Amino acid sequence: MRHLHTDLRRVIATAAACLTVAVAAQVSVPEPAPQPPPEPSSGRTEKPLLAFERMAVAAANPIAADVGYAILKVGGHAVDAAIAAQLVLGLVEPQSSGLGGGAFALVYRAKDEHLTSYDGRETAPAAARPDRFLGADGRPMPFREAVLSGKSIGVPGLVPMLEAMHRAHGRLPWASLFVPAIELAENGFAVGPRLHSVLEGERWLKADPAARALFYDSAGEPWPVGHLLKNPAYAATLRAIAKEGAKALTSGPIAEAIVAAARQGANEAERGDLTRADLAAYRPVERPPVCGNYRGYRVCGMGPPSSGGIAVAQMLAYLEPLPMSSHAPVSAEAAHALAEAGRLAFADRNRYLADPAFFPVPMGLLDRAYLAERAKLIDPAKSMQRAEPGMPPGLAAEQTNALADDARQKLTGTTHLSIVDRDGNSVAMTSSIEDLFGARRMAAGFLLNNQLTDFAFSSTESPTSGVPVANRVEPGKRPRSSMAPTMVFDRDGRLQIVTGSPGGSAIIGYVVKNLVAMIDWGLDAQAATELPHFGSRNGPTELERGTAATALRPALEARGHRVVELEFTSGVQTLRRTPAGWQGGADPRREGVVRGE
Ligand code: GLU
Repeated sequence: MRHLHTDLRRVIATAAACLTVAVAAQVSVPEPAPQPPPEPSSGRTEKPLLAFERMAVAAANPIAADVGYAILKVGGHAVDAAIAAQLVLGLVEPQSSGLGGGAFALVYRAKDEHLTSYDGRETAPAAARPDRFLGADGRPMPFREAVLSGKSIGVPGLVPMLEAMHRAHGRLPWASLFVPAIELAENGFAVGPRLHSVLEGERWLKADPAARALFYDSAGEPWPVGHLLKNPAYAATLRAIAKEGAKALTSGPIAEAIVAAARQGANEAERGDLTRADLAAYRPVERPPVCGNYRGYRVCGMGPPSSGGIAVAQMLAYLEPLPMSSHAPVSAEAAHALAEAGRLAFADRNRYLADPAFFPVPMGLLDRAYLAERAKLIDPAKSMQRAEPGMPPGLAAEQTNALADDARQKLTGTTHLSIVDRDGNSVAMTSSIEDLFGARRMAAGFLLNNQLTDFAFSSTESPTSGVPVANRVEPGKRPRSSMAPTMVFDRDGRLQIVTGSPGGSAIIGYVVKNLVAMIDWGLDAQAATELPHFGSRNGPTELERGTAATALRPALEARGHRVVELEFTSGVQTLRRTPAGWQGGADPRREGVVRGE
């Protein structure tokens, strides 16, 4: 606790430092306001429902949320707060995201109601080939082996993306956004319970000398909760990027450190092939968001190479004809509907979603008539068990028959930030190094991603068939993602909901259920995040272990569902507009919080 208070004092001190910069930049600075009191709990919440009048930050770690809030308080744009909070997350939640990874962000500009999205997804090195993750026997290598190999490491895209966002929207000086994270990295932050527990459960990180020296004591034990952890190498890297911009990471000594860490290994299978030229060639992409409709709302998300936006919009289109508001939130009817909608969406996702620069993803996947026709495949009385991909408009029959599926599913670590500033600008950003602690390799104070394991390991349906998979590895290509930063607008175009979650391909179902919980079931932002998880990714019907959802098993089995129970460590962070401002929901399954005023 003492350390927590020390941290908070520091955050306030760093906010003051930012304030100095802000004044220099002629930004108006508000009087600090006390934290608002929690509104009464709905009785189901493990975390209080918080309400805010003007601005809010929902982040996966309290220190990062505090920093984001401090930036908003001094007049920062939502993009400024997202950058400062992300730089802190890379320090205090290093297992989930950071400078060595990638991200997707939606950015909403209130003054002209403009919504755009940024793609900071990692790219495959120029040397990457479709057989990258095949073993000597021509079969896909074990997943863990691929994660730990340098071949899983893609060109990090986070920092170039943040720079592009800042150029377009930032209000505070770029360098000022680095002050809190530098200060925390140099003077230390208290190791939180989640970082400690994931370190305790971690088997491979210690093999990296820099990671071992940073995260473990001399006896090899992970630092305890409350230990004041300093990361001077991270601080030095931040200083360089603060001064020179993203090019400090894509060229020069930091780029050399990234390349060296990726190429290191005891044998050919362990060594990566990332080059300095790959890093120098990285470009973030600004893309139009993809939007769908649900009960009068417009739901917008991240387009390809993420499958998130399209799959969320499709699932909602399949749910729209169903009487969701007449089903109880935890009921066999609701779980059946979500599972069947998930099956239909995942069948298309597994076949058609990939980097649009390499595969012409058919946008007919969002065609209303196509979706309406496919929605009819849902029988309220009986599970379809397994959905086949559809034939969206704009796709030649030969094209669908010439494609095989990439249906792998995983549940891993990542982070999500939802932010609204005083002017109503907003950011929804999901940021990732893929697996917990990524590829378990550190360079210049941060961990490198293993995002390339999001590619299909087999480039064809089978070693002999030759039928290609859209999401196969190719040089310079971005692996398919499931990240789904999401914004919802009402009929008048007013931003209503900002949400997203980590959780690999389960993200899609988390986001959809969260929206249904608020829109159909009238739950507040916190109660919506607390609901047990259930759904399907076109395999079995999945129920969250240890929750009330497991009681639905007999009723679902009676409808023909094959049911499994799983751990679902979502990390949903939601902001929802109310007549008085915003309410915030932070997932009880992780240590996220919402701050604001
Ligand atoms: N690599 C995953 C994706 O891009 C994210 C991992 C996660 O959410 O845990 O879909």
